[in-house]
Amino acid sequence: MEDAEQKGFKPAPAEYFSGKAFIKSLIIADEVTNCNVNDVVFEAGCRNNWHTHPSNQILIVKEGVCYYQEEGQPMQKVQAGGVINVLPGIKHWHGASPDAPMVHIAININTDKGLVNWMEPVSDAVYKS
Ligand code: MN
Repeated sequence: MEDAEQKGFKPAPAEYFSGKAFIKSLIIADEVTNCNVNDVVFEAGCRNNWHTHPSNQILIVKEGVCYYQEEGQPMQKVQAGGVINVLPGIKHWHGASPDAPMVHIAININTDKGLVNWMEPVSDAVYKS
């Protein structure tokens, strides 16, 4: 995804992703704007670890198909244009389909409460289920 890096994306932290992802910050929270907005590119097959957010995370799928799963629920396949409202404290993961990249905007509100609590990786068995 050299192309993504050239457009201002930086590699996502490898310890929290299976596969490669790239992040571009669109809005950085400050004392006035209590909200972070990021553009995130997942290469085919890439997903992030299980995690929670202290406040809502809103995902807007721009390209590809977003694989999204909450713990104890079946995985959802959300098409481009779809929106996911991840509620506070819900354990979940998100990523690309196995065969194509996926791009979503991630909006994290109330960032003064924190951003994310990372957990274990999503196994291939869970990802392919
Ligand atoms: Mn999330």
